[in-house]
This record gives sequence, C-alpha cells and structure tokens, in this order.
Amino acid sequence: MPDTLYRASLLHTPQNPFKGGSLEAISDAGIVVQSGKIVAVGDFSSLRTLYPNLESTDLRGGLLLPGLVDAHVHYPQVRVIGALGMTLLDWLELNTLPEEARLSDVSYARGVASAFVRALLMHGTTSAMVFGAHFAGAQAALFEEGAARGLRVVSGQVLSDRLLRPELHQTPTSALEDGRALIQRFHGVGRAQYAVMPRFSLSASEAMLEVCQQLMTETPTARFHTHINENVDEIATVRRLFPWARDYLETYERYDLIGSRSLLAHNLHASTSELERLSAAGSSVAHCPCSNAAIGSGFFGLGRHLQHNVRVALGTDIGGGTGYGVLKEALQAYSLQRLAPDGVTMNAAQMLYLSTLAGAEALGLEGTCGDFTVGKSFDAVWVKPRKGDPLEQVFQHADSLQRMLSAAFALAGSESIAQVWIEGDCVHSRETT
Ligand SMILES: [Zn+2]
Repeated sequence: MPDTLYRASLLHTPQNPFKGGSLEAISDAGIVVQSGKIVAVGDFSSLRTLYPNLESTDLRGGLLLPGLVDAHVHYPQVRVIGALGMTLLDWLELNTLPEEARLSDVSYARGVASAFVRALLMHGTTSAMVFGAHFAGAQAALFEEGAARGLRVVSGQVLSDRLLRPELHQTPTSALEDGRALIQRFHGVGRAQYAVMPRFSLSASEAMLEVCQQLMTETPTARFHTHINENVDEIATVRRLFPWARDYLETYERYDLIGSRSLLAHNLHASTSELERLSAAGSSVAHCPCSNAAIGSGFFGLGRHLQHNVRVALGTDIGGGTGYGVLKEALQAYSLQRLAPDGVTMNAAQMLYLSTLAGAEALGLEGTCGDFTVGKSFDAVWVKPRKGDPLEQVFQHADSLQRMLSAAFALAGSESIAQVWIEGDCVHSRETT
C-alpha cells in the first residue's frame, strides 16, 4: 500500500481512562502511515511540512477512531440473532445449538463465515476474539475467510464432550488431534491467532479440560477463551458437575487455564474470591451487555471488576447479543451501568477505551493496535454520517470532539462507518460495498 498522510479529527485513549488516562483529541490531525504502520501523529500542518511529498487523504468531516475490538462474538450464530424471551440454557438448546450443528457441512459453514466477517468489518471491528465452531472444517473456514478479508481473528475450535447435542461433541482424542492440526495451520499465520476454547466447563469433562491444558502447554503463545458465571442455573449445574471445585473459576484453574493469556466472557455472578484470583492471574473479562440484557442474565459488576483491578473489554456476544456494533455495545454498557446497583457512570473516553485498547489488551494485541501510538499498525475507523442522517446534525453543530464522540456512541450504526483500515489496508468502504 502507498505511504499516506491522513488528515482527520482524531480521538484515541493511549492511557487507560479508568486509571487516570484521558482522551487524546486532535481536531486537525495528521497521521503518517508507512507500510501499514503509524510513523508520526500530530498537527496536520506540521506533518505536511515534515513530509511535503507524501500523498494525503482527506478524512475531515467525521471522526477517526482506532479500529474497534470485539472481545467475544460467536461466528456460527449469524443466522439465529434475535431469539428473544429465553434464558441461557433454553436459548442454547432451542435456538442456538441446532444451528451450530449445521456447520458440520463445510459449505454451509463457509456461507456463515463469509457473512460473519463482512458484518464485523462493516461495523468497524478490526480485531475480534471469535468463539468458533465445534467442527474443524468449519473452524478452518472462519480462519480462511478472515485471512481473505484481512480481519485480525483470534479464534479456535469449540470443545465439548457432554450435555450439548451429541453431534456437537468431540472425544478428547479427536479434540487434541484437531487442535494441534489447526494450530499448526493457522496460529501466527498472517493476522490469525489461535485460542483454546472449551464452550464452558458445563459441557467439558475433566478429560476435555486436560486436553485444553495440553494444547496451552504445547503452544505458549496461544490464547484461552471461554464462558464463566453467566447464568445462575448454569452455575448451579457446574457446581453439581465439579463437586471438588469451590466455585466456577476453579474448574478452569485446576487445569492451569487461568493466566494472562485468558479471556473469560460474562462473569456476572462472580464472588470476591474469583475476582481476586482473576486479578492476580492477569486474566481479562469480556463484558457483553446487550446479550446480558436480552437473555436476562443479570447486571455486570463493572465497579467490582475495576476495584479488583480485573481487566475488562467489550463483546457483542452475537447471537445472544443484538448487533455487531461495538459502539452500540459500549452504549448498552453505559446504559446498564446507569441502572445497575452500584453502577459506574462512564464518560465517552472510558467507553472508547473499552471499545478499542481494552479489547486489544484482552486479545494480547496491545503492542499491535488499539490506539494511534507511533509504531502501531494503522487500524482505524472513519465515522462519518451519511448526508441527512441524524448524526450529521450533531457533528455539524457540536462544540467539541468529545461531544461528537458521545453522539457517535448514541447514534452511529454501520451506516455511519465510512471506511475501515487494518494495518493500512482498506478492508471496508461504505461507498463501494
Ligand atoms: Zn458467548
């Protein structure tokens, strides 16, 4: 790709605003991108002088944000979004697992993977921790589609050997073989990373959790991703299945699955001890507020996680969630915190951090993306309303970039995402899609 000087109104959060960092905003900014990497950021006029011959791209009239990061999203559930009115275990059995079983057909899986990757990119998501398929062929299809479209995918085959539909179960032996083959083929290839992911300990026997441990030991750079503490009935079942465990977290800890490479979705009903242990381990939690509300799972204790210094990012949890937009997810997090007992009232800087750098940290990509620091990849989203859209009215009349940002959280959908870049490559353009 050609070296470029971008001109835009830029916002990012290179320092965590929950820990004293603040929003960095430059209204007439320049960003110099060479070979996909950011080499300079500052006022446009100064950079124009420093780089007089560089081709420039004018992105004024909107906001340029770091690429959005979805820390928990299920690729096989593209076609079953919007089943409302159920609780978790019914929602799985009646709505979701029958669809996941259809991905045993690789050509069906390819269609789903294609729609999934396209949906993420058009919403401005540039990196995602993707809960994969139970079938190795379908999992390969997701990695292949991600590579073809340039998405940063961290994902893995979903492992289970009990209590789901029998066609979704693997044996520990086949799970180990499939996992090794997928890691060999995709981990660290292009923008893909592998994550070991039992669906949840409810559906994974001790032998299957040992397989997860084995895969994590064999591949020290692999990530770990699963669910925890989402629903009270789920937690009660896990207690019955693991009588030796004092709580849900210990069912993973016993197999050395909780550490700095671990990302756990939900964690709504966590004990103080679990929060302390997650913090000590350096693990991250994916907060999925649209899903939590739609499935009626509960309020997320954001304040408790922050007090215990547990890292938190945002996940859409499609198809339990209600949309692919990470900006919308941040708005839902904000709204539920306004209502939750002991909720934390967030500002736009904190919402932007949760949508970008916090996700990159949870995926182990903080050295690569998440903000516009020099040396990182140019992963970016240009939020620019279409003519006549309500967001355009706010953008034209706002008195600050901060005000425009909070309006983007309130009003921006995929129609507001004009262009998306990953490592300098344009991976989505509204005008040509
Ligand atoms: Zn999930």
